[in-house]
Amino acid sequence: MTHKTIRQALTACCLLLPAVSFAQQAPKGPVVIQGAMPIEAEHFAQRLDNPKEEQIGGWRFWSGTIDGYPVVVSETLKGMSNSAAATAIAATHFHPAAIINQGTAGGHDPALKVYDIVLGKYSVNLGAFKTPHKLKGEGSDSREWKPMDLLASKGSAGEDKNAHTMRQFPADAQLLAVANSVSKTYSKGKVVEGVIGSADIWDSELDRISFFHNTYNTSAEEMETASAAQIAAAFNIPFVGIRILSNNITNDGKYDPQTGLACQDYVYQVVKAYIAKVQK
Ligand code: SAH
Repeated sequence: MTHKTIRQALTACCLLLPAVSFAQQAPKGPVVIQGAMPIEAEHFAQRLDNPKEEQIGGWRFWSGTIDGYPVVVSETLKGMSNSAAATAIAATHFHPAAIINQGTAGGHDPALKVYDIVLGKYSVNLGAFKTPHKLKGEGSDSREWKPMDLLASKGSAGEDKNAHTMRQFPADAQLLAVANSVSKTYSKGKVVEGVIGSADIWDSELDRISFFHNTYNTSAEEMETASAAQIAAAFNIPFVGIRILSNNITNDGKYDPQTGLACQDYVYQVVKAYIAKVQK
């Protein structure tokens, strides 16, 4: 080996070493916990160590730690547009390692009671449909509508004959497993895997609800998860939706806002289990 090659090798080493040790020490992205309403986010934010509140556009974020690991609580506000925007902001601003969308939901499955928790194995957009052609006076029945996959085609969605299958936004398998792993700690109801349906709609028609339940296997409905899941997927961020039933008109389950706190307590256990796993 000539002096020159030794010098070159040493220089390469010196340049490489800091890069390697930096990569090992590089901080992991935070876990982002989303809740739509103050009652679905503030309780979790209060459990952060050293929280710092920040407003970006119309959305509040609290950054802090749990067990020394970075966690960001995001108040997405209600509905599909708000939750999509809050997810995109979280993705570009905080570079999350994972996103958990959580909060309240209305039951579609008569077997589920208020306080039961649905871990979303996938979510669906219950607001993206095509109606059949009907003439004046022929009325309207939403059970005849076909799903419109907004990601399926670059052409007109209305003309796309192949886009009739309901798009599923799947949970990250590891996050779903972690969410399941703490189910025994929950004493206020059952914890089940299921399908979360989302739209800017509050459904109170029992025939429409059972149509969704029978056709798309929905366990519960709310207004954010599928939208946040779609945007998280576009950024390649592992995602899971965790929803507690705050009401279920299929079995006379009356609305109880306290369920929002119970859901945050459950998700707190999920986050601690996730952190224990990634810190190993
Ligand atoms: N009660 C209010 C609506 C609140 S929006 C009103 O009448 O104006 C409801 C919020 O709770 C949304 O963020 C949604 O995600 C969730 N939610 C709980 N139960 C729901 C249900 N049955 N249908 C739709 N969203 C529901």
